[in-house]
Amino acid sequence: MPSLMPVYARSPFALVRGEGVYVYDTEDRKYLDFAAGIGVSSFGHGHPHLIHALHEQSKRLWHASNMYRVPGAERLAGRLVAATFAQTVFFSNSGVEAWECAFKVVRSFNHATGRAARHRVITCGNAFHGRTMAAIAATDQEKLRAGFSPLPDWFRVVPFNDLQSVETAIDDTIGAIMFETVQGEGGVTPATLDFMRGVRDLCDRHDLLLVLDEIQCGIARTGRFLAHENFGIAPDVVAIAKAIGAGFPLGACLATERAAVGMTLGAHGSTTGGNPLAMAVGNAVLDIVLEPGFLAGVVERSALLRRKLQHLADTDETNMFSAVRGLGLMLGLECRVPSRQFVEAARSQGLLTAAAGQNVVRLLPPLIIEERHMEEACDKLRKTAKLVG
Ligand SMILES: *Cc1c(COP(=O)(O)O)cnc(C)c1O
Repeated sequence: MPSLMPVYARSPFALVRGEGVYVYDTEDRKYLDFAAGIGVSSFGHGHPHLIHALHEQSKRLWHASNMYRVPGAERLAGRLVAATFAQTVFFSNSGVEAWECAFKVVRSFNHATGRAARHRVITCGNAFHGRTMAAIAATDQEKLRAGFSPLPDWFRVVPFNDLQSVETAIDDTIGAIMFETVQGEGGVTPATLDFMRGVRDLCDRHDLLLVLDEIQCGIARTGRFLAHENFGIAPDVVAIAKAIGAGFPLGACLATERAAVGMTLGAHGSTTGGNPLAMAVGNAVLDIVLEPGFLAGVVERSALLRRKLQHLADTDETNMFSAVRGLGLMLGLECRVPSRQFVEAARSQGLLTAAAGQNVVRLLPPLIIEERHMEEACDKLRKTAKLVG
């Protein structure tokens, strides 16, 4: 058996160096990075401000413990609260831990308000919330669940964007409704405006918490700081990760004061979550994202890329692409071959993308891409289509 547990389908090459929107393998082959490590490297590779922040903190203190005050954590939490719907923040090391904290917020809310029987959560079909036992129990994706039964009966999975099914699934055991604002791994599918507003309304009427997983779509990916801001609603709890650490392991659970009523002394914790190194990077990421004009730039670039992709889909001689979808710079190309096959062929053309669902090629470029990078990507997508079409 390999010394690395063989759970990933890895490419045969190894990436060892990055510069802006490009990464290089051990043979110094160059790849245009339109996967960004699955939406993590949102500011490209080797961003000077991020390098500086991590380097400076690494000379002062790596870790102490949450037994003590952590100034960087207080600052980052305050800035996240100021920038979002939330009043309070818990820092984790990963996305699934942020999501797990969101789930604990739900349970603790219902305990604290005398409704412990509302122990279940409504989630959506094709969801991806991570790989813990609770997170795989929360989805109906068989490829994530297979081999791990019995899984806890804590969730009721309904079809995504199907408001009627959500309403029907609400009973005395339900405490929250939880889904990705834009489904990523499941196929790059944004929530519809009707669904988002309808679910908010159902939550208000039944006094349920609305919990959004913005681990992939949050932190400027859609052109707003958090993705739900595109929908004009306010959630009760949101999980973020990926781009907030830009490659340093960091996640966060954001909640309103009302939702977090049960998260009292001793209710939760993490040894390295929110440590000085992670907080230095998180604060540096916010310096970039909260700079006036940054979000507007993402909106502009995403409109331009989407036009170019639509043009590609319309003119590609192999008829490879049947639809362009997504939100902001989280885009999907529906194609007529299995997405894994396309992604692999694109790598051979020097373009990194990620598969989503069965037949969607996911594009998550760094948010700092320029028009020439978009043109290069479209050119490589066209060549890839010829290769596999
Ligand atoms: C990546 C991701 C997760 C899991 O994050 P990890 O850091 O891998 O634990 C959860 N939800 C969504 C939507 C994601 O994209």
